[in-house]
Amino acid sequence: MKPADDKDNVSGMGCGEGGRNDIVVIGGGIAGMTASLALASLGHKVALIEKSDKLGGRAGRLGTMLPQMLRCSEIIGPMVFRVLGDRNIKVLLSSEISSIGRDDSGHFVEMDNGRRETGSAIIIATGLDTVPAGAVPEYGHGLRKGVMTLEELEERIASGGPLSDEVPRAIVFVQCVGSRTERRGVPYCSALCCANAIKNALLLKREDPGRDVTVLYIDIRTTGKGQEELYREARRSGVRFIRGQPSLVTEREGRLLVCGENTLLRELYELPADLVVLATGLRQPPSNLLLMDELEIAEGTTGFPLAFGSHTTAEGVFLAGSVKGPMDMPTAERDARACALDVHEHLVKGPRTASP
Ligand code: SF4
Repeated sequence: MKPADDKDNVSGMGCGEGGRNDIVVIGGGIAGMTASLALASLGHKVALIEKSDKLGGRAGRLGTMLPQMLRCSEIIGPMVFRVLGDRNIKVLLSSEISSIGRDDSGHFVEMDNGRRETGSAIIIATGLDTVPAGAVPEYGHGLRKGVMTLEELEERIASGGPLSDEVPRAIVFVQCVGSRTERRGVPYCSALCCANAIKNALLLKREDPGRDVTVLYIDIRTTGKGQEELYREARRSGVRFIRGQPSLVTEREGRLLVCGENTLLRELYELPADLVVLATGLRQPPSNLLLMDELEIAEGTTGFPLAFGSHTTAEGVFLAGSVKGPMDMPTAERDARACALDVHEHLVKGPRTASP
């Protein structure tokens, strides 16, 4: 296997000055890698463009994957290895797109490092990012020590780093931060944060059953495979669920204090905490919106690209994974494989003539 070249951040076949491919895949997360591997196995030449300096995307930074609670690194690591070793895949890291579109040669992608890649099809697999926790300033993220996002918690657990200066005894998860709100985030349910919070609450409780772990929620939405079972297991193990988002995270006597109303019992609560974990929502990164604009992809009702399966309103431009909307890792993988088959059909048979 040839690893990514430190000098020019390119690995795989045809590592010259850019060039002609069958497909250009944008985004080196789980969906982009899955689609690239599937198309490469069908004999297509793929250029995989990633803006960061490594493959893996968000999944590569997180701790455990639902529903089997496997370590993400055990899934992502071998996949990265296969991508970097595939002769049909050219990987371009640290590559920001400066221009994208279509001309006589087909689809083209130009990068800020001067490279230009072309292909008969483009797959957008750029995924999502999180709503900034500062959208809800009363929760004190960035201001109060011990307040972190769910993603930050997962990254610390994955890296083996400390959760806080002292071993946290009381941990409070706050759900729907920046989701299901018109004004301070995104209007839709981000779909993954209930299960991810429950997963981490359970892991923390298993690690030390004496810990006080609480989840503050509006609704619990555990619709994915195995998630409801996880929710029940968390309850059995002593994780406490209180309905009612807090109005404030403050400090008292050197500890965090989470204040709100239990909307089932109609009583106010004040929960002392060592760690407050904010389950921030998922949103389209601004760069996705620019891509949609440049490629003239129509927008759906929730701001995500209008998709017909993997197809978009732009000929030869396809979508894979959570760029279509929040989805968990197994779903993103399945979606990317389906996308690869659609692209293969497009390359072999030509564009679809019937409307989707
Ligand atoms: Fe809220 Fe749960 Fe939906 Fe996330 S998945 S937005 S925490 S209801």
